[in-house]
Amino acid sequence: MEELEKTIALLELQLKRAKSALSRTKYHPELKGTLVMKYVKCGRPSCECQKGKLHGMYAYIKTKNEDGKQIFKYIKTKDKDTLIPLYLENREYKKALAKVNKLQKEISHHNNLLRKEKKIQDGKTGQTC
Ligand SMILES: [Zn+2]
Repeated sequence: MEELEKTIALLELQLKRAKSALSRTKYHPELKGTLVMKYVKCGRPSCECQKGKLHGMYAYIKTKNEDGKQIFKYIKTKDKDTLIPLYLENREYKKALAKVNKLQKEISHHNNLLRKEKKIQDGKTGQTC
């Protein structure tokens, strides 16, 4: 049981840190999709890229069209400097949020284990008395 309590204390410390990291990130809900960097082939048959020397990397937004089909929207050069940092901030936010959620799940899992162990021990002392 002590081991479990130590684990929970450690996880709670990690959660505290993860939450503070999350509070330092910014989220921009107006941005759709996620940023991806891709190497691409152009249409020219004689181009080097046809032999595997691809162009890029280029920045795209991975998103969905009206039919729910996955599409990649090219970020225009003029929009790069403003959009890429915002998408990177969203990526950081999502990463930090995922970490908080994962730790919260782990803590609740360990708390359940601790509760079960306590129940078993209570049962045992009840029998011996
Ligand atoms: Zn090419």
